Amino acid sequence: MKVAVFSTKAYDRKFLSAANSPTQHELVFFEPRLNRDTAILAAGFPAVCVFVHDQVDAPTLELLASRGTRLVVLRCAGFNNVDLQAAADLGITVVRVPAYSPYGVAEHAVGLILSLNRKIHRAYNRVREGNFSLDGLLGFNLHERTIGIVGTGKIGLILGQIMKGFGCNLLAYDVYRNPELEALGGKYVELPELFANSDIISLHCPLTPETHHLINAEAIEQIKSGVMLINTSRGALIDTQAVIEGLKSGKIGYLGVDVYEQESELFFEDLSGEIIQDDIFQRLTTFPNVLITGHQAFFTAEALHNIAETTFANIADVEHGRPCANEIRAQVSA
Ligand code: NAD
Repeated sequence: MKVAVFSTKAYDRKFLSAANSPTQHELVFFEPRLNRDTAILAAGFPAVCVFVHDQVDAPTLELLASRGTRLVVLRCAGFNNVDLQAAADLGITVVRVPAYSPYGVAEHAVGLILSLNRKIHRAYNRVREGNFSLDGLLGFNLHERTIGIVGTGKIGLILGQIMKGFGCNLLAYDVYRNPELEALGGKYVELPELFANSDIISLHCPLTPETHHLINAEAIEQIKSGVMLINTSRGALIDTQAVIEGLKSGKIGYLGVDVYEQESELFFEDLSGEIIQDDIFQRLTTFPNVLITGHQAFFTAEALHNIAETTFANIADVEHGRPCANEIRAQVSA
């Protein structure tokens, strides 16, 4: 099948081309993101392959459909950037990669926790400048601290397993209980109790209307003073302005994020020679107790391999008219 692959970087080309060698689909790689201006590039392609920042909205889908596209292949799990209803109305099938690196994301969350706690990001710079002072680098033992995990699906569970290994107590909140988390000794509580009793709060739920700005001014009122807040899920789980106020007052003691509400303007690009216009983001970068990574939690060799393999398995299912377990339809919530 002819597949227009949008938002491609060198690493996408490498892993997708390797996984495509047995199937020999005709892949054409485009660097730009898919949106209504770039949809024309996919004219005559029955399939487009997209990532998290491509805008697969109704006008884009209409343009794609009018030029022969029948399949949207997401090489990611989240599909908040796709208008599923419009796709269904236009007869376009949408498939995704539901799980590709739960260990990678959970391990990255642990990396943020350890770095923030022991100030490794600050120590790295100090030592390179010949500054071996320990002032300001004081950390705390994770042993017997309480971590509150919001969203105990694949990634939240793995984080629970890892943090259990550190000797942490586990509190959890989810709309469904995960017996595996309970078997670890994790205790499900309502959000206010989790906020009030956790030394570290880590977010692992999807972005939905219910979870949008889950961490807002009201939630920050309820949290333990000096809490460490970790977000590797989606930026809009956090009201960034409210979190900045929490950091300024000291109510939030540490912030580690791999995602940011307005990240599509910034992440995945080299903007080192540009003047960044997002003042909220720039304010975040001024805090010594804030660590930001640019949506790299998923970025492991295993994940890219799994994404590529699942992407071609999904295409094969659709191409051969087989039911595809990874198809997503309008009624499924993200
Ligand atoms: P998952 O579907 O296995 O788990 C999500 C959990 O959230 C489920 O248990 C679900 O019941 C729970 N949930 C749903 N609504 C909730 C609510 N209102 N309150 C509390 N919990 C709720 O998903 P996963 O694979 O563990 O991924 C979790 C999130 O991680 C994804 O939604 C995605 O946003 C994010 N993610 C980030 C990266 C990255 O690179 N930073 C990579 C992959 C996934």
